[in-house]
Amino acid sequence: MRALRLMRWNSEPELVELPEPEPGPGQVVIRVGGAGACHSDLHLMHDFQPGQMPWDPPFTLGHENAGWVHALGEGVTGLEIGQPVAVYGPWGCGFCERCRVGVETYCENTSASPAPGGGGGLGADGGMSEFMLIPHPRFLVPLPDGLDPVSAAPITDAGLTPYHAIRRSWGKLPPGSTAVVIGVGGLGHMGVQILKATTAARIIAVDTREAALKLALASGADQALLSGKDTAAEIRSATGGRGADVILDFVGSDATLAMAGAAARMVGDITIVGIAGGTLPVSFFSPPYEVSVQSTYWGSRPELIEVLDLAARGLVSPTIVTYPLERAVEAYRRLQAGELSGRAVITP
Ligand code: NAD
Ligand code: ZN
Ligand code: ZN
Repeated sequence: MRALRLMRWNSEPELVELPEPEPGPGQVVIRVGGAGACHSDLHLMHDFQPGQMPWDPPFTLGHENAGWVHALGEGVTGLEIGQPVAVYGPWGCGFCERCRVGVETYCENTSASPAPGGGGGLGADGGMSEFMLIPHPRFLVPLPDGLDPVSAAPITDAGLTPYHAIRRSWGKLPPGSTAVVIGVGGLGHMGVQILKATTAARIIAVDTREAALKLALASGADQALLSGKDTAAEIRSATGGRGADVILDFVGSDATLAMAGAAARMVGDITIVGIAGGTLPVSFFSPPYEVSVQSTYWGSRPELIEVLDLAARGLVSPTIVTYPLERAVEAYRRLQAGELSGRAVITP
């Protein structure tokens, strides 16, 4: 089968031939329907150094996957061949307290994971190939009726990650509150839709690209602002001087974090989702009093089930551009150049 593999750090992935995976005892192989192209893969290709992650290339990219059950290993029950499934991407040990409640992102025994500190597409082989080996059936969530694997794929990361970030701030988003989404790409446009579907907050979206601002408004934002040195002041004036209750930064650069610090309301949340690696100085005097600054990583299995439900009911609906596997490198180049709207999904 063909697979798009990252062969070494600081390189673009290559399309290579690999043997089809066979499920061992307790494992499952899926036929991939869709594999989303995440900006994190660009960071993997261009920004990471050997030794920075607990794993190294080569591995097949694609950590945002859905497809159909293709083959069951010995002893696997509860799944049927041909059944549509989404892949829960962060693969923990399955036994620690965190894994037992489905929060495998924060596994505390990662050395016992099938992909320590990662998952399929992050150290282990991911979904940018015709078939993908799933090391345990708990990493598969049956798709609810009304959702096909191509639309479900981005839900597993571009949907799940903002859902997790927004869900933990729900208490700060009553009617009358304001949420700001910085960076309206794959994750950000889902973030806007999830805010709209699950809160009554007013939504202000910020991006450097006009096309992204258009997508933000189409996704349910009340206001869209071009990102620049005056954006924080514009957010303050749009909120009667108070500032934004919750700011979700899907970029995470020095510039966007400074904007978030200057635009936050007292007792607000600044949530860093983007991994551009910027920093935000925090002291008693800034950001405003009792602002919580937090990073978030992906999401839990129960949250994946919840956000898949939102998608199956049409309450959120990713904007998708599909690419065949042969054009996956082109999709990543377009993502890097800021030429994509929404999410590129590779359909192997
Ligand atoms: P994307 O490229 O699709 O979207 C990024 C958006 O940010 C683009 O629309 C871009 O125009 C905009 N942007 C860039 N600089 C900006 C600025 N200064 N101000 C405002 N907007 C700006 O990327 P994506 O796939 O949505 O991923 C977003 C980020 O989240 C990436 O850093 C990715 O690695 C990270 N990520 C984090 C997690 C996590 O668990 N924390 C999970 C997935 C992705
Ligand atoms: Zn990702
Ligand atoms: Zn664990």
